[in-house]
Amino acid sequence: MPMLDKLGESLKDSLRKLLKISLIDRKLLDELTIDIKKSLMAGDVNPALATKITDSIKNRALTEKPKAGLTHRETVINIVYDELVKLLGTEPGKFEIKEKPTKILLVGLFGSGKTTTAAKLAKLFKKQGQKVCLVQTDTWRPAAYEQLKQLSEKINVPFYGIKDEKDPIKIINKFEPDFSRFNVIIIDSAGRDALSKELTDELKKLNEVIKPHEKLLVLSGDIGQAAKTQAKAFKDMVGVTGVIITKLDGTAKGGGALSACAETNAKVKFIGTGEHIDDFEDYEPKRFVSRLLGLGDLQTLLSKAEDAIKKEEAEALAKKFMKAEFTFDDLMKQMEALQKMGPLKQVMSMIPGMGMAKLPEELLNVQEGKMKSWRHIIQSMTKQERDNPDLIDASRIKRIAKGSGKSETDVRDLMKQYAQMKKMMKMMGNQKQMQKLQKMLGGKMPMGF
Ligand code: GDP
Ligand code: MG
Repeated sequence: MPMLDKLGESLKDSLRKLLKISLIDRKLLDELTIDIKKSLMAGDVNPALATKITDSIKNRALTEKPKAGLTHRETVINIVYDELVKLLGTEPGKFEIKEKPTKILLVGLFGSGKTTTAAKLAKLFKKQGQKVCLVQTDTWRPAAYEQLKQLSEKINVPFYGIKDEKDPIKIINKFEPDFSRFNVIIIDSAGRDALSKELTDELKKLNEVIKPHEKLLVLSGDIGQAAKTQAKAFKDMVGVTGVIITKLDGTAKGGGALSACAETNAKVKFIGTGEHIDDFEDYEPKRFVSRLLGLGDLQTLLSKAEDAIKKEEAEALAKKFMKAEFTFDDLMKQMEALQKMGPLKQVMSMIPGMGMAKLPEELLNVQEGKMKSWRHIIQSMTKQERDNPDLIDASRIKRIAKGSGKSETDVRDLMKQYAQMKKMMKMMGNQKQMQKLQKMLGGKMPMGF
């Protein structure tokens, strides 16, 4: 996911430099902190905040003793991670539906992503098994009614709205009796291109009539530090219970928006990371920063991996991979599991250490057709051959090709892929440094990497 590309890339560069150097002295720390400060400011983080954070990194790096089992360098990386988590957010706590029905009002300026986010939220709650509906009260923009209606049809969620009605209060009053049928009611509202008196008056009135349990402010990540002013204005207007930052995929300024929210203690609950309805997730600063730094996003990956492969199985595989002892059966299992998890590149970026590693493209992009053909080939091997691929010589290749209806080249292809995978695993197994880092961050090794 190209999330916060610029911020992430330049921070990763700084850390890569650090990983190459064995001795950390004051001069190097100066360079590192200047690098980090530049990256943060390019991400529109307030300069005073950026200075505060980098000073703190330097001070801690100079004074803190390395933690048990960690080198000085690893300790410094841990400090950078720690301080960035502080900068980009406080733990917001899980967003829970406590009362039924829970009414959620989305507010924000025009174009911030409210309507899109309403549908994304609805889908998320629906997946959690909640009975959810969408309500359009944006009577300002003519297309708003159609936009949300179409989105709700796409995700199969009941939609309430009145075409061409000008008074949002009438819309609420009309449908209010229906709301008790639902657990979650998501109400979209109009925005303006500025914090005008009209917008303020309308939202205040809506707020009084709806009495929403949650008032979520939708902010576009590309406004950077300006998030602070907006968060404050909407807080004064209707009292905001949480923030959603959208468009983090397309902007370098997301760092500014997130840090501004952290500074004003506006709790970021969700983030939007793309135009597609599924490009939406809970915001957890620790997970976010790990991904930003290329240290892997263990929780996200583990929860995705759980569907695809059982944990014990993954751990057993992990051991085999670390010893580079895995068999063809394991290779197949691994490939299938990875395929179920979605785009491989995205999965890889969540694996600790992989964010920084450069991997051969062809390893990441095995097509479904090829997978099928490999499955046939592997099924034509004897158990002995599957467990001990070294046995497979030219004459066995011939036999396997015949048995599976594939060409000898196909069989050799698979052998090559297997060898490559084995080599890659071995290489990663040797990344002791990365393993230690993971331990330090409280992570486990998922998926055998
Ligand atoms: P509203 O005026 O606040 O209701 O904003 P809309 O929901 O209509 O969104 C405005 C534009 O931003 C649309 O083109 C959306 O597709 C786009 N958008 C919303 N959220 C995201 C996001 O997370 N990433 C990207 N890339 N685009 C988004
Ligand atoms: Mg809208």
